[in-house]
Amino acid sequence: MSTIPGITLNNGVVIPQLGFGVWQVPDQEASAAVRTAIETGYRSIDTAAIYENETGTGLGIKQAGVPREELFLTTKLWNSGTRDWSGPAGREAVLREFDASLAKLGTDYLDLYLIHWPRPMHGSYANVWSALEELLASGRTKAIGVSNFGQAELTHLLETSSVVPALNQVELHPYFPQNELRAFHAEHGIATEAWSPLGQGGDLLSEPALAKIAAKHGRTVAQVVLRWHLQNGGIAIPKSVTPSRIRENLEVTGFELDAADLAEIASVATGKRIGPDPTTFDWN
Ligand code: NDP
Repeated sequence: MSTIPGITLNNGVVIPQLGFGVWQVPDQEASAAVRTAIETGYRSIDTAAIYENETGTGLGIKQAGVPREELFLTTKLWNSGTRDWSGPAGREAVLREFDASLAKLGTDYLDLYLIHWPRPMHGSYANVWSALEELLASGRTKAIGVSNFGQAELTHLLETSSVVPALNQVELHPYFPQNELRAFHAEHGIATEAWSPLGQGGDLLSEPALAKIAAKHGRTVAQVVLRWHLQNGGIAIPKSVTPSRIRENLEVTGFELDAADLAEIASVATGKRIGPDPTTFDWN
């Protein structure tokens, strides 16, 4: 069993603070990666319809042989620009996409279903959200949330809908710590989930300041960064297809970053995103 602590979401559902992300893992490789992750001790898996690996992810879950109810499974709605997501047709489209994801994953419920991007220029995310509220009410997903939403879109949902998103999954790592958005989440009972928590394995992992902290604790930089996410009270979903790193990324308990470490980590922030700006992002 994993020793990873859980966070209680605003509807009482508990999510592990550390999960396993599978973006960019090809469908044929996803089963092995997910199986390894679960066998290593991960209990939370994060995929998305657009990753085109829900089938492999579902297969890996089956192969690992852990009872479904011990796992926390997240997928995301790809509310692409090729469809109209407004009105009754938009609602129907959400329900169809949800069914398709469940069928591929080989499960009859989700733990968490997310709107992948707000695409605010189309003005349809509130309609999509009301369809997710229906799915929540039906019990086919235990929690609903959003991804890549900013304060403006969250405020609109808070003002116009009845269910407060359980979490917002956003780009977040020491280079881009999202301090303001995290404070907004905390104020409104929305949990923060970090995507690209390791900065996609790039320059962040060779930052001299972080290497110094890692040496001090006898850990790797990746472990220090994941520990930082946990101590911030957030959820992180690192991705790796490398078994040794899958294990390394789970071994982030048993040490504590002190105030000096946290100040040092804060000093590496650049305020620059790796990914696109969600206020203008509109893939078709
Ligand atoms: P991560 O920050 O998790 O970094 C993954 C990269 O880091 C891979 O190249 C991996 O290599 C490498 N890596 C992993 N662990 C280590 C380690 N211990 N030491 C050195 N290198 C390491 O990036 P992701 O962008 O994949 O983000 C994680 C997850 O977040 C995604 O898989 C997805 O589930 C989610 N996500 C969601 C988005 C959204 O819009 N909602 C957008 C982007 C991501 P290797 O695999 O070769 O070991």
